[in-house]
Amino acid sequence: MPQTPSPDLHAVVREIAEEMRARPDRGEVATYIPELARVDASAFGLVVIDADGTIAAGGDADVAFSIQSISKVFTLTLALGMVGDRLWRRVGREPSGSPFNSIVQLERERGIPRNPFINAGAIAVTDVILSGHQPREALGEILRFMQFLAEDPTIAIDEAVAASELRTGFRNVALANYMKSFGVLDNPVDFTLGVYFHHCAISMTCRQLARAGRFLVHSGRTPSTGHSVVSAERARRINAVMLTCGHYDGSGEFAYRVGLPGKSGVGGGILAVAPGRASIAVWSPGLDASGNSHLGRIALEILTRRLGWSIFGV
Ligand code: GLN
Repeated sequence: MPQTPSPDLHAVVREIAEEMRARPDRGEVATYIPELARVDASAFGLVVIDADGTIAAGGDADVAFSIQSISKVFTLTLALGMVGDRLWRRVGREPSGSPFNSIVQLERERGIPRNPFINAGAIAVTDVILSGHQPREALGEILRFMQFLAEDPTIAIDEAVAASELRTGFRNVALANYMKSFGVLDNPVDFTLGVYFHHCAISMTCRQLARAGRFLVHSGRTPSTGHSVVSAERARRINAVMLTCGHYDGSGEFAYRVGLPGKSGVGGGILAVAPGRASIAVWSPGLDASGNSHLGRIALEILTRRLGWSIFGV
């Protein structure tokens, strides 16, 4: 029987980048962080790194953008490394079904955020990383972790974005104070928020982000270096939380359409993990109503369909 040739990864990525560049529907760039409102909505980047280490890149693959909530995957990984499963006393692992900056569940659930990827949960995780350190040290730890995973020491924080959010992040201030009132945060609220805003303001390209995500694809190990970042079990569990919670109240839709663990950020980036197959980073700054990249999601939907990469079957 003749074999159907598997589609060429480079061609698929190039085609999707071209298709996405031409689309008129681009979503809305986030404006609640003023510095993000300046980003060009016509940008689009896509990078796939497959199991052999082959890198397929399309569009603005080497333009840096604000990773925002994608940083929460890496702070979760670090915090689990520091305190292990004790982390789950501070934060749950259930989807919230609510917007990323919602406060409503916190009152009913005594200040314990639903999961580590909504803002409240990520602030609680940041607080765990901060304990026993100065804010500067904790932030350095997070940044060095990103540089180590991406094998790129040039990755940096965009100070203008961090300052912009420090000035306008009133909801996050409210969330942090509310959690503090329940004793969920150990450190001074402004220290924890300072670290949180700065790790959200890490600037990376799709190429760097896809590199940083490889350990989640390969059972906790970065293949190029052989470094074991986390155990296979932990990688599997981080992927599970990404699948169920990585897109806030759009997580069900993302699983339905894309079928991969993924984490979005309001900068318009998405990191997606095809276990055993590929690390994928996409960036298009326009967002949908849930604050997830509009074209980023569509691009991933097309990619997984063409390559048969959904974890739920072809
Ligand atoms: N720094 C942003 C905030 O706290 C992150 C939100 C996001 O990317 N969804 O509002």
